[in-house]
Amino acid sequence: MIPFNKPFLVGKETEYIKEAVALGKLSGNGVFTKKCQSFFEEKYNFKKALLTTSCTDALEMAAILLNISPGDEVIVPSYTFVSSALAFVRQGARIVFADSKENHPGIDENKIEQLITHKTKAIVVVHYAGVACDMDVIMNIANQYGVSVVEDAAQAVDSFYKNKPLGGIGHLATFSFHETKNIISGEGGLLVINDQNFMDRSEIIWEKGTNRSAFFKGEIDKYGWVDTGSSFLPSELIAAFLHAQLENLTEIQNRRKGIWNLYYEELKFLQQEGKLKLPFIPDYATNNAHMFYLLVNNLEERDKLISFLKNNGIHAVFHYLSLHKSDYYLNNQGGTDFLPKAEYYSDCLIRLPFFYELEEHKVRLITGMIKKYYE
Ligand SMILES: *Cc1c(COP(=O)(O)O)cnc(C)c1O
Repeated sequence: MIPFNKPFLVGKETEYIKEAVALGKLSGNGVFTKKCQSFFEEKYNFKKALLTTSCTDALEMAAILLNISPGDEVIVPSYTFVSSALAFVRQGARIVFADSKENHPGIDENKIEQLITHKTKAIVVVHYAGVACDMDVIMNIANQYGVSVVEDAAQAVDSFYKNKPLGGIGHLATFSFHETKNIISGEGGLLVINDQNFMDRSEIIWEKGTNRSAFFKGEIDKYGWVDTGSSFLPSELIAAFLHAQLENLTEIQNRRKGIWNLYYEELKFLQQEGKLKLPFIPDYATNNAHMFYLLVNNLEERDKLISFLKNNGIHAVFHYLSLHKSDYYLNNQGGTDFLPKAEYYSDCLIRLPFFYELEEHKVRLITGMIKKYYE
């Protein structure tokens, strides 16, 4: 069976873990944590980066930093992972779901303004498949109404919007290093703080509501409990693993782009023949080769193709069930939302196996099987 995903080692992961042990500090905010954070601050010019144990945790930190409280509304695309909404629901927000674009699963920038009310506190955008949302339009709307923007850049490491790195545009941004993403540490994440107003408080929330970070930097002479927070920082074991991956970012990205391009080249004639659709990348966005997906005509065809591939040793999957149709939302907040594009992607999108070690002949085997299905 060709798996859908497979975690991988690319360099010195285990060596750095041993080094972390030898350094005598395995709890968080040590040498490797700082190396990983500096990597992002230097390479992408992010004002401040804090490692977290997941993207979900980073989103929770964002919700706390924005002081989201009961009565507030947060605009979130329906076609996304649960965490993009859940982190804000935990703070008491009501979620207002936005639809996807006609030609891309990302949030439709033209459908946001109509959802804004005097209760709107934030807009969460998700760069689906690492392809940028139309950030100029979104930031203009946000600035006009005094609303904050959180980029859920879980899938968007090393991807750009008009030459600006994703994660560096919204007030806050979050990344994931879950084993299914481009850069992995098993579980893992990052909060990016671009708005100066959130800088100091972010470290406190990160360190269980204490001003311990400031203490270690010698800024204050004793530390204590000053705010809300949690234990959002990962252990040095995770940071050591992650650091080895980040050192090989270019190699990882090049290899993934090779896999993506091969999928595209092999399958584009099926798009030309009108049998299915392939991913669309707008002019303003780059492709970071996070995933390769197909869009088929309907739910029935999706299930048939997935089981055909499964019977032939290939594990392909569908993706998000639109959150506006989820049990939790319907039981607690819902909604008669009519979001046809989100439902279209829920019904018709298929993700093909995609991971660092996927060999060229396996990609050809997969595309060969898809061609066979359409014969
Ligand atoms: C993977 C993912 C998350 C969750 O990331 P974790 O690190 O597993 O918490 C959130 N949002 C999106 C869009 C994702 O793809």
